[in-house]
This record gives sequence, structure tokens and C-alpha cells, in this order.
Amino acid sequence: MARIVITEFMDERAVAQLAAAHDVLYDPLLVDDMPRLITEAQKAEVLIVRNRTQVRNALLAALGKCRVVGRLGVGLDNIDVSGCEAKGIEVIPATGANALSVAEYVIASTMMLLRGAFTATEAVAGGQWPRTALGNGRETAGKTLGVIGFGSIGQMTARMAQGLGMKVMAFDALLRADAEVFKQTGVACSSLDKLISEADVVTLHVPLVDSTRGLFNAARIAAMKKGAVLINTSRGHIVDLPAVAAALRSGHLGGAAIDVFDAEPLPADTSLQNCPNLLLSPHISGVTFEANERVSFMIADKVLRSLA
Ligand code: NAD
Repeated sequence: MARIVITEFMDERAVAQLAAAHDVLYDPLLVDDMPRLITEAQKAEVLIVRNRTQVRNALLAALGKCRVVGRLGVGLDNIDVSGCEAKGIEVIPATGANALSVAEYVIASTMMLLRGAFTATEAVAGGQWPRTALGNGRETAGKTLGVIGFGSIGQMTARMAQGLGMKVMAFDALLRADAEVFKQTGVACSSLDKLISEADVVTLHVPLVDSTRGLFNAARIAAMKKGAVLINTSRGHIVDLPAVAAALRSGHLGGAAIDVFDAEPLPADTSLQNCPNLLLSPHISGVTFEANERVSFMIADKVLRSLA
């Protein structure tokens, strides 16, 4: 029987599956109590985290008995993966398990921001009738979606967009133009610059690594088509948010949806308040009822198999 420490929220039935065979500490608030987290980590043979627990430095040093770190999600930027490897700790992500939720978020944001008709609730309820102002919305069919990072989420988003009649182009730094996936999906392989200058909607699906940090800076935002929409569900530190806000206010960008931030929670920021056509959400594009079930059971299964 192994000691399993779970530091953030996990589907309780998946926790029960682990607890049926092992000694489980499930405390979704443990992530916010560093001294207790360190104490519990010293006893853990398995550590299960979401994206807030930083598995590095003091926490990594405390993992003296740990064999497995399970990640309830896919981005590994909160885990010192090479440090884990050096200690013989296997890192297990929930690859693909929340891709559908993120892809649906991207498609919903695309349609809302191109159409621009969903921000009038207060005005209409207040007796105004802003029909003329909102009458220039755009259809989604026929527009070009540019996908940056053509992995699980990028490919699923592309398939949904094609189903709506969008043209799709993709840039992926690790895929060659003759990669099978472009033929299979019918998506055009593009350079980054061409994608940025031609896409009506640009969506980011890259990990946060050295080559993507600062990728979407002010110059790249300025190179986007006038009126284009930018969607970031990947990670903070990849998009320059003040530059996005400035481009929305100047009318260069037609809309933006941002789910991930340099600092989370995002500190209050007046430059983002009342910014036109800006949708902000608290890192939930991959977090739905169904995705939480899939992610939790995938990690429970993989952890049980690695302990067997
Ligand atoms: P994935 O590993 O399947 O795909 C990532 C793709 O990015 C790969 O094909 C890789 O080759 C490509 N890539 C790497 N470096 C690149 C670069 N410099 N330029 C262009 N492409 C590059 O991962 P995924 O499951 O599609 O997830 C993508 C990212 O989305 C994750 O790393 C995570 O940070 C983020 N994510 C966020 C949420 C959320 O709730 N907001 C949920 C899930 C995933």
C-alpha cells in the first residue's frame, strides 16, 4: 500500500478508486499550505497535482520517497521535469483528456468575438436598442483560423473549425511540412509569419517553454490582420497582455479571449476593465465537469498501473 498525496481538486470517485488500494491523503487546499505540503510530501510515494502546485525547489527536495508525480492536466511548466527524472520520479500527465473542453472554448470564443452581438445584455435590458452598432458582426464560415501549436488541442480545434466551414492553417515548430498530420487533417502547414498575417482568428496551443516565452509580443500582435481575433488558452508569459489591450482599444484587434495569465490569480488591472471585445476567464478552458472526470480517472488509472 503506497502513500498517495493529492494537493488540488480531483474527481472524488477517482480519489475513491485510489483509496480502495492505497493510503490516500486528499486535500484540495494543501497547495496553499506550503509547510504542511512539505511535511506530507516527505511521506509521499505518489504526489498528484493540478497546475498550481510548483513541483520544484523545496517541494522537489522534500520528495524523498516519491516514485510518481501525476499531473491532472497537460502543461508541465509547474513541474521541474528534469529534476524529477534525476531523482527517478516518473511524471505522468493526463495527455489529451481535456482537449475537447479547450477546443470548445476556442470555438465558442471565436463565434462570440467575430459576431460581437453578445455584449449588449445590460443595454437591451436597460431599454436601449443598439442594433445599428452591433449590425456589423461577422460570420465564422469562410474565415481563416490560424492554429499555433498543432498537438492534441490544436488538432481538435482545427477539426471543429473545419466543421463550421473555416479554412485552417497551422504552425508547429516541431512538425515538418510533410508531416502526416497535415495530410490527414487537410490543414495547411504554414510559417509563423504567414499565419499571423493571414488568419482572421489566431489561437495558441503551445507549451510554455523557452521558445514560446514572449512568442506573441507587441510586434507579432501588430502584424496580425486588422480586425483579427486572438485567443490564448495555452499559458501566461506567451502573450503580451498590455499589447493586446492596446490593440483592442486602438481597433487593430477585433477581439481577444484570454484564459491564462502571467500571474494567476490575475491582480486587479484597470487597463483590462472596459476593454472592448475582451473575454477574460480564470484558467477554466480545460476545466469542465466531463474533462475533470476524464483527467481524474486517467491519472488514477495510470498511477495504479505504475504502482502495480
Ligand atoms: P501537445 O503537447 O499535444 O501540443 C503542443 C504542440 O506545441 C506540439 O505539437 C509541439 O510540437 C508544439 N510546439 C512546441 N513548441 C512550439 C513552438 N515554439 N512553436 C510552435 N509550436 C510548438 O499539448 P496540448 O495538449 O495540445 O496542450 C497545449 C498547451 O495547452 C499545454 O502545454 C498547456 O500549457 C495548455 N493547456 C491549457 C489548458 C487550460 O485550461 N487553459 C488546458 C489544457 C492545456
